[in-house]
Amino acid sequence: MSAWLAVLVHTPAHASLGPVLTYRHREVLPAGTLVRVPLGARETLGVVWDPADDEASGEIDPSKVRDVSEVLDTVGPLAGAWQQLVRFAARYYQRSAGEVALAALPPQLRELSSLQLQRKALRLHKALGLQPAAGKTSHTKTPPPENAGPARAEVQSKALSAEQTEALAQMVAHSGPFLLFGATGSGKTEVYLQAVEQLLAREPQAQALVMVPEINLTPQLEARFMERFAPQWGPQAVVSLHSGMTPAQRLSAWLAAHQGGARIVLGTRMAVFASMPGLRLIVVDEEHDPSYKSGEGARYSARDLAVYRGRLEGVKVVLGSATPSLESWFHSRPVAQGGRYLRLHMPSRIGAVGRSLPLVRRVDMTHQARNAVVSLPLLEAIKERIARGEQCLVFLNRRGYAPVLHCSDCGWKSACGHCSAFRVFHKSDRTLRCHHCGHSERVPRTCPGCGNPDVLTLGRGTEQIEELLTALLADVRRPGTQSPEQPEGEPVRIGRIDADTTRLKGALQSQLAAVHAGEVDVLVGTQMIAKGHDFRRITLVAAINPDSALFSSDFRAPERLFSLLLQAAGRAGRDAAMGAHSEVWVQTFQPAHPVYAALKNYDYPSFARSQLQEREQAGMPPFSYQALVRADARSQEAAQAFLNAARKRAGSDMAHWPGWAQVLEQVMLYPAVPMSMQRVANVERAQMLVESASRHALQRFLAAWQEVLHTSRGDPACKGLIRWAIDVDPLSI
Ligand code: ADP
Ligand code: ZN
Ligand code: ZN
Repeated sequence: MSAWLAVLVHTPAHASLGPVLTYRHREVLPAGTLVRVPLGARETLGVVWDPADDEASGEIDPSKVRDVSEVLDTVGPLAGAWQQLVRFAARYYQRSAGEVALAALPPQLRELSSLQLQRKALRLHKALGLQPAAGKTSHTKTPPPENAGPARAEVQSKALSAEQTEALAQMVAHSGPFLLFGATGSGKTEVYLQAVEQLLAREPQAQALVMVPEINLTPQLEARFMERFAPQWGPQAVVSLHSGMTPAQRLSAWLAAHQGGARIVLGTRMAVFASMPGLRLIVVDEEHDPSYKSGEGARYSARDLAVYRGRLEGVKVVLGSATPSLESWFHSRPVAQGGRYLRLHMPSRIGAVGRSLPLVRRVDMTHQARNAVVSLPLLEAIKERIARGEQCLVFLNRRGYAPVLHCSDCGWKSACGHCSAFRVFHKSDRTLRCHHCGHSERVPRTCPGCGNPDVLTLGRGTEQIEELLTALLADVRRPGTQSPEQPEGEPVRIGRIDADTTRLKGALQSQLAAVHAGEVDVLVGTQMIAKGHDFRRITLVAAINPDSALFSSDFRAPERLFSLLLQAAGRAGRDAAMGAHSEVWVQTFQPAHPVYAALKNYDYPSFARSQLQEREQAGMPPFSYQALVRADARSQEAAQAFLNAARKRAGSDMAHWPGWAQVLEQVMLYPAVPMSMQRVANVERAQMLVESASRHALQRFLAAWQEVLHTSRGDPACKGLIRWAIDVDPLSI
């Protein structure tokens, strides 16, 4: 007596095997059950799958069918909705379902035996005060244990503002998805908290998923959710899921969500795949943030998958932002014009009196000294802040000391030998480092080209700004610090936070803590510090050189810049007592540029309107749908030849497939071009844009074209091709 099972596994990329393989077991197992199965010489984690999904199986040779090695039945099966989410993500982003499913599961599931898992699950249940799971039944169907209900402690929630009340009421009255368009400091997080509270009050077994773009932002959010929910629901009710956790922590959190014990899952983009049988609410905070798009494997957008998942499971989805993505903004136009999301507007900062948004000042750098880095008026404004005991945040999107070294005698520049990029000069450890391939060497004493001892720096990074401000503020003393030992008062304290200062584990947290504790007067950093952090004493935010983004060839660059500056502005004046005179300074050579003009008025809607008009005229997203095929090869010619061969075949071979002429007519393939970063670590990169006014046509085309790409691989001109990948709805072009 034995049964054949379809099992989803992660087969190697470009293998001839499909992701759904057949195995033998002594009994039928429900779809979603986790199993360990042999695959070639090794053993791998798999998920029992719907046999109907196996398109490529064909004839099965019974003598080749192998046995399931182990059933991980201490972990209940993954729900049908989870399976469907994986299936959809794989299809939409043109990857194998096995890859998506296995990447979505905690890595430790691959390693622990059923017994080890059982122990772990048992410990978790004890901690949650639950009964052990009953055998193999799915948790979706298991009635909730009696003692899992709320304890009696009272939760202290804030009295909502009128705008918050209205937003919450709308969220109750409608099914969504919602776009919560709220100024920074308008109390969006408070709305999320109370939406979850209301949900749990109604349905104690419900679960909420709250996503944030970056790991750095999870501790603060976790603290806020803990503070609110731990008193009533216990500390186990809130779990996090992100890549900064240890494998053991990730497994515990995942199990807590899967078994229904965790009420609230906070996480980064990977959390969109969390198994949550009681899921009722999904929040995507800072929904515009590019970090929601995965940059490897299946290049999924967690925000878009959240919306899909919401619809699939009949769950409310709230996307929140002060500067929504133009896609989401467009989707939230009035229903009469075809809108699909309900827009909820919270324009005012909480405690509006004295807490209006910071004043935006543009410094026209054409009127400043030719080589000025920090303009005089900005320097004066910083000194004023210091005199008042307030903090300043100065940001520049470039780390290191100088992006390029050069020799004015022979023209030598610090180009990376492996990439089409320059090596960045880092003064602190006297290295030249490539930020793309990581190659690092000691900075040369003399010009490698001609021996000139006078090698110069070009441009500036955060290290240099820190050094410069230290010099410019050397004579300034902090107020109220004159003591008998230091009658002159203490010098200004300048801190820096960027990827270089935060390399060590815990470094970022301790540096942020120092800022919060008031141990830093001026904080210099990259965009890392511009996002999300709730700094209380910062009353001045300065962007040293934001113009560079205006010259980018990427059509999303203005949108990004606007949102970054507005986010940064949101760091200023978060404390009511100091909000009154908060300012945002923008040093620019183009003060009249529409991005800055819109920023000055905090007028996202008109900025979005003009951007959308441009996009519509140019036929760009959201008025069209795009995919990029990227190819890596030993030579640029091979990379492009591969893409162009696949393009040509689309025009020739595919055009003869019955019924395909119509699809092809709707899809535009552009010629292959080198990527803007053409060479990284000695690998040449090229890309091809595929565009269509119809998402459906694009999807159909891509799915069928995969086969053509595989075939093109074999062309003699493509010798040296390393890999290729499709990026659907790419964020940078
Ligand atoms: P956002 O997420 O929109 O930036 P937050 O939710 O973080 O805004 O709110 C900004 C600040 O205002 C926080 O310190 C928060 O505790 C406080 N806050 C939010 N809502 C209220 C309210 N209804 N009453 C009093 N304070 C509030
Ligand atoms: Zn030289
Ligand atoms: Zn390099």
